[in-house]
This record gives sequence, structure tokens and C-alpha cells, in this order.
Amino acid sequence: MTWIPHVSPTQVDDFNLCERKWAFRQFSPKEPPNIGAFRGDSGHRILEAYGKDRTPPEIHEANLARGLASRFSEDLAEKKISAEDYAARIIATCNKMIPLLPEPPWERIEEKFSFEIGGVTFCGRVDLQYEGNAIRDHKFSSSADFVKTPEILLTDSQALIYSAWKMVTEGLSEVRFELGYGIPGKKPRAIVVPQVMTAEHVDAMIEPIVERSKEIVRLRLARPDPLSLTPNWNACEAFGGCPYQDRCKPSAEDLIAAKFDRDEAKQEKKTMGLLNKAKAKVAETGGVAQGGKPDEKGKPDPGVRSDDGHAKKECFAHAAKLLEVGLSREDVVTQCAKKFVGLPADAIEACVPKPQAINPPDSPKEPEGKVEEKAPKGTKAKVKSDDLGGMVKSVLAQFKEQGLTVEIVIKSA
Ligand code: SF4
Repeated sequence: MTWIPHVSPTQVDDFNLCERKWAFRQFSPKEPPNIGAFRGDSGHRILEAYGKDRTPPEIHEANLARGLASRFSEDLAEKKISAEDYAARIIATCNKMIPLLPEPPWERIEEKFSFEIGGVTFCGRVDLQYEGNAIRDHKFSSSADFVKTPEILLTDSQALIYSAWKMVTEGLSEVRFELGYGIPGKKPRAIVVPQVMTAEHVDAMIEPIVERSKEIVRLRLARPDPLSLTPNWNACEAFGGCPYQDRCKPSAEDLIAAKFDRDEAKQEKKTMGLLNKAKAKVAETGGVAQGGKPDEKGKPDPGVRSDDGHAKKECFAHAAKLLEVGLSREDVVTQCAKKFVGLPADAIEACVPKPQAINPPDSPKEPEGKVEEKAPKGTKAKVKSDDLGGMVKSVLAQFKEQGLTVEIVIKSA
């Protein structure tokens, strides 16, 4: 009989994030746990012991500190924290999580499962089940930025697979799925994110997960070269950076184009948010924006600052980025005018630094200060595009054609 691999929610998440990363992880020898995984495993064990018979977390502190000191001395040195202090933070985090958990004893903890749906066998391990239909998964996260929202849980692979399992095996029509986060840090915190999953919702949402999982099963059996799978350059910097970058070798062009795509998406989201707010305001005031109606000539409302200081700052930073990757000043002004529609043309002109301050080729004067590398006179890349990611790729390709190497440093904002 052919062995058919089981699929876990973590595999589905990895695969959805980047198929190539999933394959590297899947087909490489298991790596020893890092300090983050150790923190998570320890936190789970401490909560489990508390749930059985109220064992106080502090009982584990000395052991935890010894384990950390013997296995992760380099990580601790990098984090500039002692093993004792790191252990104390884990204990303090568990103590923050405990009041948000049900009273012990917990009857159903760390229950392993596997079940079949749509021809795929899913597997998992449920940290805690209580009150008949509630599932709680403990998470130890380095930052509150990674905390999911209740809305995200509606499409989350783990929430859907765990809920489907409970519904199928226990005949439930509703499951309360919860993520209980512990966030260790100088001030440890705990947050619970709940969502009620109905059978109708799970039924509608599980199908795409099953289809993706069939692909996972097929690839696990075929064991392709990870490099033959589709990369996702947008995922390279996620969760502290992909550990397989040295094998995958994303190019500078790929990374910068992905960064521009992400920035554009963020900007679009922001704009949409503002647009919706503005619409709501207009609806509230019966179709007239607050501060008065624009006159027939379409003059801006005197109550609105069109040369907003924040927009200017953003425009300046955006322009600097575009100049850095080699766009001409003229193109930068055009791009900024498209992006910052509320800013008057003279404000945009003022935001875009003069070419000689950044890019010396057309300037007869030598710029002051240290210039690492100077492009030969006349070296320019020109392109017109509304798609920033594609535009950057095109600009870099033109530099390459001229035999120039472009070094790009990506910095998080
Ligand atoms: S480096 Fe980026 S594209 Fe390559 S495997 Fe990692 S996340 Fe995927």
C-alpha cells in the first residue's frame, strides 16, 4: 500500500506563504530547535502542568534557566539578556496567561488527532479543549505584531482544520476557536483572540484548503527540487527573515520590487481607509463634507490643508527612494504627483531633492562629502510605468545592460 502523507495546518501555512520555503523545510534534515521554539515548548509544558493540578509556573524556573544557559548562550548574548532573566520572562508570561484560561483540572489537553476530509488526511495536536465546544491553542509570540485578529481566524488554516475536525468527530454545528497569546518581553502580556466558527462557514472555506493540501501531498510524494517551485519574494523578510535565503538566492531586483509592491499595497490600504472614512463623514453630514461646500470654481475648502506637512514628509522620503534606484528627477516628480494627489505641484517640486545633491552625473560640480561610487557621465535609466515593482526591475535591468552593478540596501521603515 502506498504511504499517503498527512497534512498539518503549519504545512498549509508554509505552503501558502512560499512554496519554495515549504519545500526547503520539508525536504531538509530537521534543524535543532531555536530559542523561540524552546520558549514555545517550555511555555506549553508549564501551562499543561498548571492545567493538570495547578502546579505553579515558578517550579520550572530554575530548570528553564539551566536549559537556556546550556543550549542558547549565543542567542542570549545577542539578545543581551541572562538565562535567568529570560526564564523569568517566560514564567511571568505564563502567569499573565493563566487568568485567561479555564479553572483546572483540564480534562482534554494536548490531544493528537487525524481525520480525513475531501480525500486528504489532516493531523494536529489540540492544546486545550473545554466547555464542550471550545478549542484553545497557546502561542508564544515575540511581538504583538504577529497577533491574529478574529477576522483573520475566519480564513486561518488552523482555525478551519481544527474546527472541521471537532465538527466531524463530535457532530457539532459550532466551535469556539481561540488563540491564547503570551508575549514575553520587558513587560510580558497575554491576549486571547476568539472566533465562533459555524459549520456553514467551515464547509464553505475548507474546500480551497483541501485543494492546496492535495498539492502538498502530491509534492511530498514527488520530492521535487525546492528551486523548481514558485518563490514568493514578498515572504523573504517575513518572520525575521527566511532561513533559506542562502540556498534560494533572491536577487536584489526581486527583493526591491517586492518591497515596492508591499509599500504600494500598504499605501493603497491606507488610502482606502481614508476614502471610507471620508465617505462615512459625507454620509453623516447629508452629502456635504464638513467645513463647507467647495465653490463652483472647484477651489479647495479653506478648512482643508492641501499642503499637509505629513504628506510632504512622505513625499520627500518616497522621492529619495526613487532617486536612489536611478530614476530621473523628472520621473520622480511625475511619480510623486500621482502618489500624493493632494499636494500642490510646487510642494512636490520642493520635496524632490535636486539631482546634484544625490546623483552627480549631470552636474559640473563635485558634490561635497564622501561619495562611495559615481556612475559614469550620461548613465541614466528611463522608464514610464504605473507599476512600481515592474518599473524598478526595468530600471535595474537598464543599468545592467550598461555593464553597471547596482548595490541595493533595503531598510525597514
Ligand atoms: S528566500 Fe524568499 S523566495 Fe526563497 S524560499 Fe525563502 S521566502 Fe521563499
